[in-house]
Amino acid sequence: MPHPGTPPLLSAALTAAVRGWPVHPLRPGAKSPALHGERTCPRTGDCTAGHRKWEQRATRDHQRIQRAWSASPFNIGIATGPAHLVVIDLDVPKDKGSSDAPDGAQHFLALCERAGQPTPATYTVRTPSGGHHLYFTAPPGTRLTNTASRLADLVDTRAWGGYVLAAGSIIDGAAYEVTDNAPVAELPAWLLTALRPAPTASTPPAITPTRDATRLARVALEREQAAIQAAPQGAREATLFTSARAMGRFVAWGDIDRHEVEEAFQAAGEAAGLKAYECRSTLRSALNWSIRTARPRRTA
Ligand SMILES: [Zn+2]
Repeated sequence: MPHPGTPPLLSAALTAAVRGWPVHPLRPGAKSPALHGERTCPRTGDCTAGHRKWEQRATRDHQRIQRAWSASPFNIGIATGPAHLVVIDLDVPKDKGSSDAPDGAQHFLALCERAGQPTPATYTVRTPSGGHHLYFTAPPGTRLTNTASRLADLVDTRAWGGYVLAAGSIIDGAAYEVTDNAPVAELPAWLLTALRPAPTASTPPAITPTRDATRLARVALEREQAAIQAAPQGAREATLFTSARAMGRFVAWGDIDRHEVEEAFQAAGEAAGLKAYECRSTLRSALNWSIRTARPRRTA
């Protein structure tokens, strides 16, 4: 266990490791991994036999943690996959000041109510932006990956392929704080069902898409993708937003899968120089709005 006088971030990293969660360093005051990426891999140390990314290098080894966090006040990533965790991330709307739109916590509560299930009590961390991370253990034999808005608006999950910032990490001078120190509960079965990668029984489109409709949607997708990539600096986020809104009706009509649109636009946005999180949040709000307000398809 950490001794008194241990630097706070080192102490927080050790605390996570003691709970059984492998950790990896994130840039001080930030959310991105501090470990090198594949392109700049020196092929030494951990990577002698080939590059290993943060998920594979995350560790519970106290000596390694001690060494890493003595060098710099790194934030702490918990590699949720290797930690056998599924973390539900309840986000807050981007511009919470100017709208009274429900936040992730309210959407999640509504989801629980609709499912007739109690809101699960478990170890919870509050994020500096006012969101919450609900920690669950992954049921044995399962291998879930990250999801975005699959459970509900502003409700993402982190599992294999993802990480969360551990309690004690600091963004803009504010710390991630434990708000419920309850034991980590196992992910409830109904949430496991909702998160399984196989297509779940989400609302099937009222009209079975014809091959032509899907083809037209894909043509539109390519056109919008090109527009995002060609957008001049300063207009990129706005273009991404407009394009996502334009595609939303095709998603609402069942012509094209939401994930396909998200993936294509995420890649186009990042290629145009937008940050990954900016793309994600812009896409999410534009698609949600557009899907919600889409008119029925006009039959010609
Ligand atoms: Zn490497």
